[in-house]
Amino acid sequence: MTRFARISKMNEGSAVVNVKNEVCMGCFMNIPPQLYIEVQRGDSLISCPQCSRILYYVNS
Ligand SMILES: [Zn+2]
Repeated sequence: MTRFARISKMNEGSAVVNVKNEVCMGCFMNIPPQLYIEVQRGDSLISCPQCSRILYYVNS
C-alpha cells in the first residue's frame, strides 16, 4: 500500500491500475511479457500501451 500511495501522489490526476498475469486491469488487454517483468521489478513507472494508465504490480 505504501508504494501505491507514493505512485498515486506522484501521478495526481493520472489513473493507476493493477496488472495481473500480463493483463492490464484498466483495459483488460494483454501487455508484452517484457513490460510485465519491468512492472514487477518496480524500477520505473510503466504505462499501459493500450490505455496509457500507470501500471503497478501487487503481489497477492
Ligand atoms: Zn491498459
